[in-house]
Amino acid sequence: GAAITLEHLTKTFPGSTLPAVDDISLHIEPGELLVMVGPSGSGKSTVLKMINRLIEPTAGRILIADEDVTGIDPVGLRRKIGYAIQSSGLFPHMTVAQNIALVPKMIGWDKERVTARVEEMLTLVGLEPGEYWKRFPRQLSGGQQQRVGVARALAADPPVLLMDEPFGAVDPITRASLQDELLRLQRELRKTIVFVTHDFDEAIRLGDRIVVLRERSRIAQFDTPQAILASP
Ligand code: ADP
Ligand code: ADP
Repeated sequence: GAAITLEHLTKTFPGSTLPAVDDISLHIEPGELLVMVGPSGSGKSTVLKMINRLIEPTAGRILIADEDVTGIDPVGLRRKIGYAIQSSGLFPHMTVAQNIALVPKMIGWDKERVTARVEEMLTLVGLEPGEYWKRFPRQLSGGQQQRVGVARALAADPPVLLMDEPFGAVDPITRASLQDELLRLQRELRKTIVFVTHDFDEAIRLGDRIVVLRERSRIAQFDTPQAILASP
């Protein structure tokens, strides 16, 4: 994992008077699973999208391993950051294997390496490669799609993983097993993960540390789950 630093990060969308994200600063340790929890509209997705350069900040800086993300080219960015979102974000016209192979191909891995990696990733997320690699996303359950979404985000072995409500669209039992799976993966891989959710129980379950946000990304609390549970 790589450290992530947000410095006075701010976003005011065109046509808005108030910022959606207002001057947030925080430091995320290498290998840490940081959960950002807050109500809908508190700016969580906007923060992740700024880290992933899908949205340009109005002000402030983002550093990954001391490198300003605005200085990283698109291919370099894909090497550094994996991104998993709600409803998996898989391309429906591409097979499971093609979805997982996307970033490794983009960054120039050769065919043998990509094929081996697709198999490895499917196995890692608990899907038997021979059974699943040829399927299309619609031929998978919601939980299986989320597993493929996580496999795709991890395929190029990025030091940083951004997860935006990745388990939001599945039933509670499947969600619990995906959460277990993520914790197991994290013990093994030690990525720096920023995980966004509006579900406080999910935050407590997953986070090494938790940032509790109020409106406009104001930090209400930033601590370990134990300390947050113990606070009044
Ligand atoms: P969260 O992820 O916490 O639900 P978001 O980051 O999606 O919150 O949204 C934060 C605020 O920014 C909301 O008020 C939302 O309406 C606004 N917002 C998000 N994206 C855009 C956009 N592209 N244009 C204008 N306003 C936006
Ligand atoms: P394409 O026609 O684009 O090669 P495929 O679905 O055959 O479509 O392959 C998509 C990607 O998945 C390729 O990058 C390939 O390396 C990988 N791949 C293909 N077959 C397998 C397999 N049996 N196991 C794992 N990965 C595979």
